[in-house]
Amino acid sequence: KPRVLSGIQPTSDSFHIGNYLGALRQWVALQDTSDAFYMVVDLHAITVDHEPKVLHQRSRVSAAQLLALGVDPEKSALFVQSQVPEHPMLAWILGAETGFGEASRMTQFKDKSAKQERTTVGLFTYPILQAADILLYQTDQVPVGEDQRQHLELTRDLAIRFNTTYGQTFIVPEPHIVKETATIKDLAEPEKKMSKSSASPRGCVYLLDEPNQMRKKIKSAVTDSEAEVRYDVEHKPGVSNLLNIYAALGNTTIEKLEAEYAGRGYGDFKGDLAEVVADSLGPIAARTKEYLADKAELDRILTAGAEKARQVASRTLAKAYKKVGFYPPV
Ligand code: ATP
Ligand code: MG
Repeated sequence: KPRVLSGIQPTSDSFHIGNYLGALRQWVALQDTSDAFYMVVDLHAITVDHEPKVLHQRSRVSAAQLLALGVDPEKSALFVQSQVPEHPMLAWILGAETGFGEASRMTQFKDKSAKQERTTVGLFTYPILQAADILLYQTDQVPVGEDQRQHLELTRDLAIRFNTTYGQTFIVPEPHIVKETATIKDLAEPEKKMSKSSASPRGCVYLLDEPNQMRKKIKSAVTDSEAEVRYDVEHKPGVSNLLNIYAALGNTTIEKLEAEYAGRGYGDFKGDLAEVVADSLGPIAARTKEYLADKAELDRILTAGAEKARQVASRTLAKAYKKVGFYPPV
């Protein structure tokens, strides 16, 4: 079975429809055909402003949401990154292999640092920790959204470089990106990707929103002054984004939707999409609450996941330690 790994940051109280369609839906689908490791990456989340209590709670809610979406702890290791200390340890080694210029080219850092009052070294080295996350598990495939492609490229470069210098140590991973839903846009600003940490309140459909909030956000999505439901990312980014969401959640195609709404304007189209979104995502909130209600059981699942993860991670770390000439961890 191929090894699959991915992570999501606990940077808000809820995931959004972009996370779901770009990544999390693939996480659930891949469980059956692969050996999967899925984590809540709280180490990454402290690279932007955070409050300790809020972070801790968000990690719990994140894990509960993943379970509610269908991540099955019998099939996949589900864990919180901070419970596996091998991650920052390998990141240190990979940092010593990364060129400063190479790291400086990462566009996520440029975007995020521009929005922060104070930019940290942690935000700068974020992609190196991400490379460690992936390489520790000898990962074949990483299901992510398009925004992570550049970090995956860096991860591959580091794996190849390390293997060339020290001998075969890491599997070189491939990104698993579903083209149609690789970048879901903010509904209010359809030129920007939907994001947890910088969402416009009306532009981001959260999985834990009330169904009526979801409907309202879809109905007030920015479109354009035409009245034609047509896919054209350049000239009609708002409508094209809604078509992508509709096709993915409604299990249909953009061509069929264009034909169905020909000559009918945006009102019907948005109204129907609002129902599709509310129907498919509405039940997630209640299921999340159920998983949150049993704290002991949630902790048990996460501890078991972390134990399984550490078995794999510690083996890879020991190998890397030896290769670079370190003493073994005791
Ligand atoms: P943040 O603003 O804190 O970075 P985020 O919404 O970008 O939050 P992440 O935790 O960084 O979420 O990413 C989790 C996963 O969701 C990644 O695989 C990422 O590529 C994917 N993803 C994030 N936003 C989108 C989007 N708008 N469309 C598709 N996939 C997305
Ligand atoms: Mg992100």
